[in-house]
Amino acid sequence: MPSLLLPLAIFLIIIAIALFWQAGRRQKAAGLPGGRVISSDPRLWGPVEEPLYDPHHGLTGKPDYLVQQGDSLIPIEVKSSRVSAAPYDAHIFQLAAYCMLVESVYGKRPHHGILHYSNRTFAIDYTPELESALLDILEEMRNRDRQKDVSRSHADPARCRGCGYRQTCDQTID
Ligand code: SF4
Repeated sequence: MPSLLLPLAIFLIIIAIALFWQAGRRQKAAGLPGGRVISSDPRLWGPVEEPLYDPHHGLTGKPDYLVQQGDSLIPIEVKSSRVSAAPYDAHIFQLAAYCMLVESVYGKRPHHGILHYSNRTFAIDYTPELESALLDILEEMRNRDRQKDVSRSHADPARCRGCGYRQTCDQTID
């Protein structure tokens, strides 16, 4: 199992990059739920010790917390940043991936997940449409992963400076 962790971690990093890249154009197509502001008590949240793994989708990840609500387990992602009116699309997809993992690992589909920013907390419904948009992204990522040459998708030097692939990438921007 430990030998799987590095590729899985890399896969998650790729997911994060792809989610940011995809998020803008997915929202309109998928009709992403914008989220509803809720109040939630962090003292009731339980930290997640081990990453969750879904072999069927080749997905792994660890939400910051899981909270039991009735019969459901709800994933919670905590962001230190502030947000204005609505959560960021990339964060919605990240949370959707955690909902997918919770369903795979625990056999119960979360009705929603929670995005907690420093100034606001949102409940994001895990709808079939959101799940479908996430599956589209995962499929596209797998397709790109099979390609030998994938061109850089941005012109942002700061993004390259903070990238974990900088040492091996031949398209880095200095
Ligand atoms: S270093 Fe390469 S992989 Fe990383 S962000 Fe820049 S272009 Fe993309």
